[in-house]
Amino acid sequence: MSGLPNTSREITEGATIGVAIVGRDARGGLIVRTCNDAFMRMTDASRADTPALPLAVDAMMPAEAHPILIEKLKACFDGQTHTHRFIDGARSWRLTLEPLRGPGALEAVHEVMISCIDDTPKKPLTREVEFDASRFRAVVDSAYDAIVSIDERHEITLFNRAAENLFGYTSAEALGRRIEMLLPERARAHHADNVRQFANSPMTNLRAMTAPRMDESNSVFGRHRDGTIIPVEIAISKIDVGGVVEFTAVIRDITERARLMELLKQQAVTDALTGLPNRREFIDFVEKLLATDEILSVFILDIDFFKAINDNYGHDIGDEVLRVLANVGKSIPLESMLFARWGGEEFVAALPGADASAAPRIADALRQRLERQDVEHVWRVKAIPFTVSIGVVTREPGERDVDALMRRADRALYHAKAAGRNRVEVR
Ligand code: GH3
Ligand code: MG
Ligand code: MG
Repeated sequence: MSGLPNTSREITEGATIGVAIVGRDARGGLIVRTCNDAFMRMTDASRADTPALPLAVDAMMPAEAHPILIEKLKACFDGQTHTHRFIDGARSWRLTLEPLRGPGALEAVHEVMISCIDDTPKKPLTREVEFDASRFRAVVDSAYDAIVSIDERHEITLFNRAAENLFGYTSAEALGRRIEMLLPERARAHHADNVRQFANSPMTNLRAMTAPRMDESNSVFGRHRDGTIIPVEIAISKIDVGGVVEFTAVIRDITERARLMELLKQQAVTDALTGLPNRREFIDFVEKLLATDEILSVFILDIDFFKAINDNYGHDIGDEVLRVLANVGKSIPLESMLFARWGGEEFVAALPGADASAAPRIADALRQRLERQDVEHVWRVKAIPFTVSIGVVTREPGERDVDALMRRADRALYHAKAAGRNRVEVR
């Protein structure tokens, strides 16, 4: 039996489980009251000649090197249990921080017990493993996308250089913190549940065999350190690292793409010449109103003898007239009305809430304004007088068909033209 420890003292001293009891001194500072040799080996104090306890935590583990540990210790005094990964050169330790209360369960936390296990890989690192590790780090850091891993407790275990750029935290600041700090406030509460759901989904295990897809359905938002919300695309994988489950997210900043998408969406519903909503947007708007039972009138407006304006002054002046008309139409004083370009020199308005007596009055006020040239516009060459004809209709109760409604408005417009132009007709 020689060579084996045979007293309990020898057994505990030989163990790799370190234990320390942390309390507070008279001024509230964190002090290590007592600890065993295994814990001492983890600390800076082991390098001193004769470390004497109690010792300030700061003195054993310099605050600037381990701010997260200090923070977790403080949180522990508020009653929370924490874990922490501690890496010192080639050695690595896994710490558990547990609040200790007085005899009554509701009593305040007066001490915290730290237990730590030395989980440094037992075999000395070979050159090959070292090479693999540095190659891994180089690849991860040269990635265009942000790469962030979290452990089962949702604490960050990997944070590459692109993640530093994207979120504004250094890797040292992010490691050991909860992933929620990278999310907009409104997404934080549900995130842990989402990760659990993802982890338990049978699809997740299937996906592990194929490359994760990055697509629109995965578009979410991240939060930069300065509070900016960043649209991102994200692909998440569940990875088993030697029996420990980790989640790794590859995150791509899609701010520019989101901006372009928004611009394209806007362009798809906007008339380029006048900046007004286009025919598609108008139909969409009216269809939504027709689905309700709201009172609604619409009109179609057509410039009188517009061809002659083009012929006499040129196409550019014709365009200027269209823009002037657009600006006047936009200012029809009716809440939630929509004025749009129907096509060519024809414009349309949807007038929610305007009935068969109000709608023709609104249309005629616009017609008169244009006839009077009551427009705020600095003409490029000279003011071009023009008039318009307008056909007005009011929806029948229960009428739902936008095409039929617009056909009726068109017939009213035809009558306005036939009756001599520069007038409003109702159908
Ligand atoms: P009416 O009183 O019967 O409406 O006569 P009009 O001359 O206005 O009618 P017509 O439909 O014959 O002419 C419309 C003209 O509008 C023909 C077309 O060249 C012109 N037009 C259509 N779109 C544009 C445009 O974007 N810019 C310019 N400058 N002209 C356009
Ligand atoms: Mg026309
Ligand atoms: Mg015309």
